[in-house]
Amino acid sequence: MTMSGSVQRIPGYCALCISSCGCISVIEDGRLTKVEPDPSHPTGKALCAKGRAAPELVNHEDRLLYPLRRVSPKGDPEPQWERISWDEALATTARELERLAEENGSETVAFSIATTAGTSMQNGYPWVERLRQAFGCPNVVASMELCNFTRDFLYAHTFGSGMPMADLEHTGCVVLWGHNASSTWLPHGTRVAAAKARGAKLVVVDPRRVGFAAKADQWLRVRPGSDGALALGLAGVMIDEDLFDRSFVRDWSNGPFLVREDNGRLLSGADLDESGNSTARVAWDKTADAPVLYDNASGSYERTGADLALGGTIDVPGQDGVIQCRPAFDLYAGTGRRTDMDSGGAGARNRAADGKLGSGIGLHLGQRRAAQQFRPEQPRDRIALCFDRQFRHQRRQRALHQGANK
Ligand code: SF4
Repeated sequence: MTMSGSVQRIPGYCALCISSCGCISVIEDGRLTKVEPDPSHPTGKALCAKGRAAPELVNHEDRLLYPLRRVSPKGDPEPQWERISWDEALATTARELERLAEENGSETVAFSIATTAGTSMQNGYPWVERLRQAFGCPNVVASMELCNFTRDFLYAHTFGSGMPMADLEHTGCVVLWGHNASSTWLPHGTRVAAAKARGAKLVVVDPRRVGFAAKADQWLRVRPGSDGALALGLAGVMIDEDLFDRSFVRDWSNGPFLVREDNGRLLSGADLDESGNSTARVAWDKTADAPVLYDNASGSYERTGADLALGGTIDVPGQDGVIQCRPAFDLYAGTGRRTDMDSGGAGARNRAADGKLGSGIGLHLGQRRAAQQFRPEQPRDRIALCFDRQFRHQRRQRALHQGANK
């Protein structure tokens, strides 16, 4: 804390959302008058309008400063309240909780907690949780943004782990997809700006030329709702120009799993042999020129070192004859190509024709240039992909499972 005259400058952090931006609170004559960025703090390079407005919140005449008890019936159009002491408020609340637990069990109560992302509950959340658990109550009504639920839960269900943070400090290419970090996540935006200043390429997918879109090396101006087509188009270019990590797709995705041409279903061990495992998936080992089973339970192939096919049509000897199959990745690549404007895929053409993708050829050139930012000399773990989180699950799931789960 520094002090000059009656002015105090107190370092701390803004608690108005989960970003916890480092700041300096300026106190004049005992009153908070200003909140300023604290560049010496790791997240303190900038503050948003809400953080800067903290003095208005703190000093507002309508701010609730002490406990109130309702003295008119619920639903009264003119509700009346009386001020009570903190001790009385705590004793009343504890008494009522105990009464409810005794009469009907602690399960009769539900604790409701506001989101930590947009409120100052980030500090209080663990304490409410502790109270709930000490009370023996299993019911919590927690609000969470659609995007965060996707990030923490759906991503884990889809890919086996939560969405990690992008490695912006080391990346050579930042992709902001529908994500204007400068207005929605200030510390993240500061890190993106630092990455760009360091020389990282910046690709922004956004209908609007705002924030980082105006500074991007490549701005892809999609029309709302056409992101999926763009993602598949980018993937199509990356596959055609061999700008992707083939061994990663082979070893860490369901791309090698064979999909039957006759019914679009994943080939299983039971299709090969009457006594085969119906939950085992099948890939094609090019070296052995034979199928190789994948065990879902162990998450491994029956033999190591197999050179798994990712493309082409494969005749697999089944228990009832030859079954024509294609690897799931081959179907996915085909979908990406159909979304490529040059190849004239029907879906993409129709979207362009009805105006959903904007200028078809312009967008195509853009997606080609954007895809080329993922250049071969760029290590795969050096690309930071930052999505607006509510889109992530749909897009990834749709893209990766395209064809494989029909
Ligand atoms: S983003 Fe704004 S509200 Fe959130 S911590 Fe930073 S300054 Fe405060």
